[in-house]
Amino acid sequence: MPKQYRLLAGRAVLARAVEACAALGGPIVVAIHADDRAAYDAAIGDLLDAVRALLREPATGGATRQQSARAGLARLAETGAPKIALVHDGARPFLTTALARRVADAAGAHGAAIPAVTLTDTVKQIDGEGRIVATPDRASLRAVQTPQGFRFDLLRAAHEKAAAAGRDDFTDDAAVVEWAGAPVFVVEGDRDNMKITQAEDFARAEARIVAPLTDIRVGQGYDVHAFAEGDHVWLAGLRIPHERALAGHSDADVGLHALTDAILGALGDGDIGQHFPPSDPQWRGASSDRFLIDAVRRVARRGGAIAHLDLTIVCEAPKIGPHREAMRARVAAICGIAVDRVGVKATTSERLGFTGRREGIAALAVATLRLPEAAP
Ligand code: MG
Repeated sequence: MPKQYRLLAGRAVLARAVEACAALGGPIVVAIHADDRAAYDAAIGDLLDAVRALLREPATGGATRQQSARAGLARLAETGAPKIALVHDGARPFLTTALARRVADAAGAHGAAIPAVTLTDTVKQIDGEGRIVATPDRASLRAVQTPQGFRFDLLRAAHEKAAAAGRDDFTDDAAVVEWAGAPVFVVEGDRDNMKITQAEDFARAEARIVAPLTDIRVGQGYDVHAFAEGDHVWLAGLRIPHERALAGHSDADVGLHALTDAILGALGDGDIGQHFPPSDPQWRGASSDRFLIDAVRRVARRGGAIAHLDLTIVCEAPKIGPHREAMRARVAAICGIAVDRVGVKATTSERLGFTGRREGIAALAVATLRLPEAAP
C-alpha cells in the first residue's frame, strides 16, 4: 500500500497531513492514483467533519509528481482558484500550522516561497563509481521541504508552460516556477517535518507520535449472543462454519463487540449500544468491523494509540484454536495495529452455565490505550 495511506500510530499518514493543511482553511485537493480511491476514502475517514468539509473531490494524479501537481491545480481551479496555493507532500505527516502559515505569508509577499533547512552533514558529489568529485560549500546549500507556496496564477501558468514545452522531469514545484523564470524565496523550514520514505521511517515517526502519549487507559468489554438456527458464526471478524448461528441485530460477532466496548470504555465514551442503537434499522445485519473501526477512529481523534487488545472467547464450540492466528490478524488489520498487539484466547466453561449448555457464546475483552495528557 502506498505510504501515504498506511497507518501511523493508528491513523493514516495522509489524514495527518491533511489536518495540518486544514488549519489554514480554504479548499484542499488531494491528487491520487486512479486505483487508490478506496484507500483514500479509508484514509480520510477519521477526519473531523470541519476538515472533511474543506476537501474537494480528489484529482487523478499522473505518472510523475509534476503531472499530479498539475492535475491538482486544475481541480483547484474548477472549485474557484485561490489567491495562494500550497503544494504539500502527503507523506509528510508532521507539518505544523506554524510552518504552513509561514510559507503562505512569504508566498503572498514574494509570489513563491518554499521551506528549507540548512545541512548539518557535509555534502559530497560523487561519480557513477562512488568516487568523490567535489565537496560543495554547504553554507549555500539547503534541503527543501513542502509545503511549497505560490501565487496560484503564477504556479498554474508555470505548470502549463512546462507541460506545453514537454518538460515533466521537475521534482518539485519550485523547480517548475524557477524554470518558468520567476524568483522563488526560501523560508525557515522545520527539521521535524520529515518525509516518510523508507520502512524504518515509519518506526521512527511512530515512536515520535507515541512517546508523548503517557496517559495510559484500560477498558473492558463483555458481550453475549445466543445461538439460533444457521450454519456459521462470525467471531473476531471471521466467518466460521458451525451447526448454529449467533442471533443478533448485526452479524452478532461477540468478539468484535466486546473489543469495541473495551476501547470505548478506555476512552470513557459510552458503549456500542449507545453509538449504534439496535433499534436503528441501518445496523441490521451490519458487519461488526464497522463498530470496531468507529471506536478506533475515536481513539485517533483523541490523538491516542491502541497499545494492546486482549480478547477471550468463551464457548464449548466451535473450536477457536484453529482460527486464533487468523483472528489476531483480522483484528489487527481492522484496527491498523501490529499483530503482536492483539491477543486472542479461548476457553470452555466446563459445561457449566449458559455457555456450557451451548446456548450461546460470551466474549471478554481488555483494551489498553495511550492518550495524550489532558491540557492542564
Ligand atoms: Mg453484541
